[in-house]
Amino acid sequence: MSRVLLNGVNQITGRYLSNHKGVDLVKKTNQLDTIIAHSDGVVVNVKKGLGNTPMATNTASYGNFVKIKHDNGYYTLYAHLKDVYVKETQRVKKGEKIGYMGNSGNSYGAHLHFEVRNPLDERIDPTYYLDHDLPNFNRAIKYQAYDKVKKYWLPEVIVGKDDYAGNFGNPISGIYLDYYKIRVHDLNKGYWLPWVTNRSDYAGNLNNSIDGVQIENATYRVHIKNGNWLSWVNKVDDTADGYAGIYGKEIDAIQIK
Ligand SMILES: [Zn+2]
Repeated sequence: MSRVLLNGVNQITGRYLSNHKGVDLVKKTNQLDTIIAHSDGVVVNVKKGLGNTPMATNTASYGNFVKIKHDNGYYTLYAHLKDVYVKETQRVKKGEKIGYMGNSGNSYGAHLHFEVRNPLDERIDPTYYLDHDLPNFNRAIKYQAYDKVKKYWLPEVIVGKDDYAGNFGNPISGIYLDYYKIRVHDLNKGYWLPWVTNRSDYAGNLNNSIDGVQIENATYRVHIKNGNWLSWVNKVDDTADGYAGIYGKEIDAIQIK
């Protein structure tokens, strides 16, 4: 059975490998099909209007594609499409038509390139999920703060479980965080440092204190040195309650729900 092709079956023409982190599918030999959503979710990324570009690399190699974020935090991605039937932010149901197979991007013959990504946006072997539900996400999301005075990373804590990361009285100058996208405001430089995600790097500049934090899709708050916990924040924008912190005041702890 296939949960991603309308007719309900698929033939695998390209397996998941270390250098090909998806599976390639057709309906049967040389036969194409309409593509359907694997599970309920929200369309988070769409590319359309592209032709065949065999030399394309990175995201452009996908050609026209649809990426869906599912309710358990996993993603599915459908690439090399000829037609796309959905748009970004649209909610889709399992089995809903989302596009038609094609040869766009870095492709040598029309097929579907199908990926499954975990909530950290890491590609996992999708073969099993061609006819199964996506797994439940039960990995603990951890975070960690760097003590600017003691100059080391404080112990990891778990989102929603442990109290906070930090060491009251000592400013923090770096934050490591799983899963969520985070950026911090550098007190000394007076600007926001780049977003980091998926623990690829830490947010901060270990020499400088932090006076603002933004985390996408999370509820978070910070503690001001020699002060109090500020209000919980659950959005990210330019308004005063779109970040946690007070410009010019050092943060010495952070808590994420
Ligand atoms: Zn492929």
